[in-house]
Amino acid sequence: MKHVYIETFGCQMNKADSEHMLGLLDEINYRFTEDIDKADLVLFNTCTIRESANHKFYSQLGCAGSKKKQRSKDGVTPPLLIGVSGCVAQDKKNWLQNNFPYVDIVLGTNNIHMLPEFVKKAERGERVCEIEDELPLELPELPVIRQTKITAWVNVILGCNFNCTYCIVPHVRGRERSRSPEDILREVKTLALEGFKEVTLLGQNVTAYGYDLDSNYSKEKATFGFIPINPQYSLGKLIRYIHDVEGIERIRFLTGHPFHVTDELIDTVSELPKACEYFHIPMQSGDNAILKSMARVYSVEKYKQMVEKIRTKMPNAAITSDFIVGFPGETEKQFLNTVKIVQEIEFDACNTAAYSPRPNTPSASWEKQVPEEEKNSRIRYLNSVVNEVLEKKNKKYLNTVQEILVEGRSTRDESKSMGRMRTNTIVNFDIVTYHGKPLPIGNLVSVKITKIRPWALYGEIKN
Ligand code: SF4
Repeated sequence: MKHVYIETFGCQMNKADSEHMLGLLDEINYRFTEDIDKADLVLFNTCTIRESANHKFYSQLGCAGSKKKQRSKDGVTPPLLIGVSGCVAQDKKNWLQNNFPYVDIVLGTNNIHMLPEFVKKAERGERVCEIEDELPLELPELPVIRQTKITAWVNVILGCNFNCTYCIVPHVRGRERSRSPEDILREVKTLALEGFKEVTLLGQNVTAYGYDLDSNYSKEKATFGFIPINPQYSLGKLIRYIHDVEGIERIRFLTGHPFHVTDELIDTVSELPKACEYFHIPMQSGDNAILKSMARVYSVEKYKQMVEKIRTKMPNAAITSDFIVGFPGETEKQFLNTVKIVQEIEFDACNTAAYSPRPNTPSASWEKQVPEEEKNSRIRYLNSVVNEVLEKKNKKYLNTVQEILVEGRSTRDESKSMGRMRTNTIVNFDIVTYHGKPLPIGNLVSVKITKIRPWALYGEIKN
């Protein structure tokens, strides 16, 4: 029996890929270990969306390289194997092995199904670097070892047909490819049998699910704008298709694009009891000129119309978003338009980031790059505004009773348990027995909200 240690950087899709890589490695007798010193194989599943993620990866890779050298000095056999997968590997290819000679395996985002073969080669002392520019024609169904017992990540569409000028995803993840609804249904049924109560349908642009499966679709039409008339497949239809799987109580989806948030999707979420009223739709900027230079293909007005439609159908729906500050050319006034829209729309959560120029993206070479200290002061200010908005928003939950899916111990306070509302809001509550039994992780409980904070609520379990 051998052991694998895996370090996952970045988004939920990378987390889902890591769970598949663990499933594949388990089939060749590599068991997951959280202790890197016990590992025979160390795998880094990387992200390149921001420079900070790269830095963290390279420093950890250096540490793994030293461990490998030390082990061979101590005569430990077999030698420690080191592998790199994910978006840095897809982008950098064999540059990694040329610059880090102790890296045995480099594989990309489109060929994780080949990992067992690469590990076997590396065990024989070969160095492997194989990057595929496209996913295989038939998307392989992969074994999986899930890292949570609560909510399961289910990849439904890979890649993205947009060309946002700051984003490296289309370059490292390719064009949109949807899995068949039958494969997804099979996976969700298995999850229900394994006791999962919640599934999260994943895609860089999950709201375009199924359009590429349409009989009228073709590579030439692989652009964001291709929305079939009366689509045979769509995210709304997929949610309906998996909705009646017994045992699954909640269905979420992540991450959407305003261009593809259709009336059909909004109606589906408002009608189906298991579909959580939670829309994570990155807006990125509150200024039309900046949105144009980001090539986001919608305006502030269009985004607000989408919010209006959602809140008309579901007044308590959560709408969360992402914002980038300091995009090349962004003036103080344009930044303040972002601040204004955050206050006006009153999001339920906002992830904020300072613009980070990425290789192979158009905006990285543009003039008028905003100085770092200016970016940092804008991000600090926006974060303070976001906290004010969230604190104000969360006041409506005080003294209400909310349905919580219990996830386990709170990451912020070990003496408390935590879970999430249908709106994905985190709730912390005292650990007590529930109907005389230990707190049922993965189960739905009722909690009375007694205290609110910007990013989390606190409450008491209703026995
Ligand atoms: S929609 Fe834009 S930001 Fe999102 S993954 Fe696609 S290209 Fe990147």
